[in-house]
Amino acid sequence: MVKKYEELKGKRVVVTGGASGIGKATVQRFVDEGAKVVAFDINEKALEAVKAEIPGLAGTVAVDVSSEESVVNGFKKVDELIGGIDVLVSNAGISVRKKFVETDFAQWRKVMGINLDGMFLCCKEAVSRMMPQKSGVILMTASTNGMEGHPYYTDYNASKAGVILLGRSLALECAPYLRVNSVCPGYVLTPMQRAEYTDEMLAVVNEGIPMKRHAEPEEVAALYAFLASDEAKYITGQHIPIDGGETA
Ligand code: NAD
Repeated sequence: MVKKYEELKGKRVVVTGGASGIGKATVQRFVDEGAKVVAFDINEKALEAVKAEIPGLAGTVAVDVSSEESVVNGFKKVDELIGGIDVLVSNAGISVRKKFVETDFAQWRKVMGINLDGMFLCCKEAVSRMMPQKSGVILMTASTNGMEGHPYYTDYNASKAGVILLGRSLALECAPYLRVNSVCPGYVLTPMQRAEYTDEMLAVVNEGIPMKRHAEPEEVAALYAFLASDEAKYITGQHIPIDGGETA
C-alpha cells in the first residue's frame, strides 16, 4: 500500500530529467499524488513518450539544464503552464565510466555543466520564485558517489559532492521559508545503470550491497514524495542516502 500525502494535491512541481529513470518515476509519483507536474528533459522524443504514458501530466518542456537560456525559458513556460512552483526535483544528470587519465577536459566540463551547473541554474530560478511566496521545497539528486570515492567516475563524484554542499548551503540561506535537501541514491536500476553495467557486473555489485539488490526508481520517488510532504517539515540542509545499506 503506497502512502499518500494529501498536502501534495495541487502542488506545482517541476522534475528535471523527467523523461527517464528516477525522474520519470518521480513524475509518475507526484502525478499520482494529485500534483501539477511539469517535466523537463533534453530528450524531446522521450518527453513525448512520457506525455503519452502519464496522461495526468500538466506539461513537458524541452530544457537543457546546462544552458542558462534554456533553463530561464523553461521556467517561464512553467509559469505559463502551472502558474509558478512549490517543489523542484532537480534530478537531471549524466555519468561516464572512464579512467581519470582518459577523462579529457571536454568530458569534465560536460559532466560539471549538467550535474552541477544545471543544479545551480534550476535552483536559481526556483528560489527566486519561492522566496517571495515564503514557501517551497527544493530537492536534488546527488549520489553516494558524492559522499565517498569511487574509481572511474572522478568527474561525476566531484560534481555530486558539489551538489551536496550546494544543497546544504542553500538550505541555510533559505531557512526558515524553504527546505532544501539532496538525496544520495546508491545503485538504482535505470537506463543509466543499464548502459554502463553488464548483467555480470550487476550481479557482482548486488552481492556487495547489504540489501543484495539495486534500488527501483520508484523507491527513490517515494523518498522524494516524503521529503516534499509536511511529514518532513523539520528536515532541511541534509543529504540522505538511499542505498540499501551500502554506505553504512
Ligand atoms: P537516466 O539516464 O535514466 O535519466 C536521466 C535523464 O536526464 C534522461 O532522461 C536524460 O535525457 C536527462 N538529461 C541528461 N542530460 C540532460 C540535460 N542537459 N538537460 C536536461 N535533461 C538531461 O538516469 P537516472 O539513473 O534516472 O539518473 C537520474 C539522476 O540520478 C542523475 O542525476 C544521476 O546522476 C542520479 N543517480 C543515479 C543513480 C543510479 O544508480 N541510476 C545513482 C545515484 C544517482
